[in-house]
Amino acid sequence: MRLQDKVAVVTGAASGMGKAIAILYAQEGAKVVVSDLTLEGAGATVSEITALGGTATAVVANVANEGDIHKLIKAALNSYGTIDILVNNAGIMDDFSPIGDVTDDMWDRVFEVNVKGVMRATRQAMPIFLEKGAGVIVNIASIGGLYGSRAGASYTAAKHAVVGLTKNTAFQYAGKGIRCNAIAPGGVNTNITASLKEPNEFGISRAMAGVGFNPRNGEPEDIAKVALFLASDDSDFVNGIIVTADAGWTAY
Ligand code: NAD
Repeated sequence: MRLQDKVAVVTGAASGMGKAIAILYAQEGAKVVVSDLTLEGAGATVSEITALGGTATAVVANVANEGDIHKLIKAALNSYGTIDILVNNAGIMDDFSPIGDVTDDMWDRVFEVNVKGVMRATRQAMPIFLEKGAGVIVNIASIGGLYGSRAGASYTAAKHAVVGLTKNTAFQYAGKGIRCNAIAPGGVNTNITASLKEPNEFGISRAMAGVGFNPRNGEPEDIAKVALFLASDDSDFVNGIIVTADAGWTAY
């Protein structure tokens, strides 16, 4: 029970890694605020958690909407009185467009969710962490945030921004009992491709050039185990790092 009595907020927790993280955190004793775009989606994860004997509540929040994030943080405080752990997981793919084809609409959409959502949720949780003198932030970045062409220009730039934001937050608040780390998953079997409509043919062919080096795809639970380590006191000396979890893909 490595998260006994901790309160964790997980965004994008109706599916994939967010769902696996929410379930594992609850199994480790955390009270989990499960948030996603729909009550149906978030509620299904909560049902799984409660069936396993855990404690969780569902909150609808679009991380691209500041008002929703405000409601999410408030709902966490109303339900459980505090927040100890924030997992910024919600994210969408781009359409693999390289810079020559990228549209403002795609760029803005990806940045609103993948970057601004992370910034705003962290900003709103920060006063709670500062008052307690404790708090843990786990951002789900991507190997696309560390390397050049795992996706299109928008996603790649957005995940690089998450990496920078993770390091900045970690150092800025290192003396305040607050830690901020990120995970850079490789290929993981989730529903993320549902957010991928009509891929740019040239872009996807260039992005797929290195796929042959991927030893295997992971499962959401593989990432949840890393997210547990980063949220628990087992990692209390770990701050500002990006943990790559990709079966060795980028080690080539
Ligand atoms: P997923 O699509 O299975 O789950 C993502 C969840 O986020 C969904 O439930 C979706 O409804 C939710 N979501 C999307 N936009 C949202 C918004 N605006 N507000 C709130 N919730 C929103 O995908 P996943 O692969 O589990 O993605 C989780 C994270 O992992 C993302 O940040 C993604 O970029 C990152 N990632 C995924 C992979 C991969 O191979 N699957 C690799 C590296 C990084």
